[in-house]
Amino acid sequence: MKNKDIQLLNNGKRLDGRTASELRSIKIVPNVVKNAVGSAYIEWGNNKIIAAIHGPTEALPRHTANPDRAVIKCRYMMAPFSSVEEHGRVGMNRRATEISKVTAEVFENVLLLDQFPGTEISIYIEVLQSDGGTRAAGITCASVAMALSGIPMRDLPYSVSAGKVGDQIILDLNKIEDNYSDADMPVAILPRTGAVTLLQMDGSMTKEQYREAMHLIVESGKTISKIQKEALKAPYLETEQRYKK
Ligand code: ADP
Repeated sequence: MKNKDIQLLNNGKRLDGRTASELRSIKIVPNVVKNAVGSAYIEWGNNKIIAAIHGPTEALPRHTANPDRAVIKCRYMMAPFSSVEEHGRVGMNRRATEISKVTAEVFENVLLLDQFPGTEISIYIEVLQSDGGTRAAGITCASVAMALSGIPMRDLPYSVSAGKVGDQIILDLNKIEDNYSDADMPVAILPRTGAVTLLQMDGSMTKEQYREAMHLIVESGKTISKIQKEALKAPYLETEQRYKK
């Protein structure tokens, strides 16, 4: 992983021209597929991801049901054409299983699950094109899809990663940075309370570096949350425009 031959920072600028604390550009389109209860499409840098929600429906197979609350099932998948890397077999692999699990946990902390006993709510995240940070982009997109589904939520989670190149903390690592940096820390946050619902770390950081990384994540979260809310408002603004004509 640590390849010092690749210089990720040059005079404070990254390979894609960003500063250390700069996000990639993010665009979210709401309601992209007709047959899901909520859906959204995100372009986050060169990542392209669709998230779609199904449910609540009766939990099947029955033994997976919880009589007190809804269960969340998440399937994160990368399309076979999404990455330049060799994928191995198509379909679920260890990495996809792990990302599906941590994503479900983010939403377990935010949905009012006890309102739907015995049911399941499914989150599908389909990565069409990947360039690092797809779990963060997938969670951010699924959050918008979930809000559009109308399933009651306490908050609108967002996720982004921060990492380290040498001693420099950088925000929102792309694929090459993810591969060659000294640390990568994806985090998901509930912005209303500041609760952290996902925190993973590849590599290591000092306490100071961790604080700095968290600071960048929380600051950039204001921008990410704003983009999510604008995507949620977009369908209503379009309707308003139509009536004005
Ligand atoms: P994230 O996308 O959340 O940063 P990782 O750190 O695991 O997740 O992976 C970084 C990037 O490496 C991914 O976005 C993807 O482009 C690529 N990648 C990782 N694992 C695989 C895999 N099994 N098949 C194809 N590409 C992969």
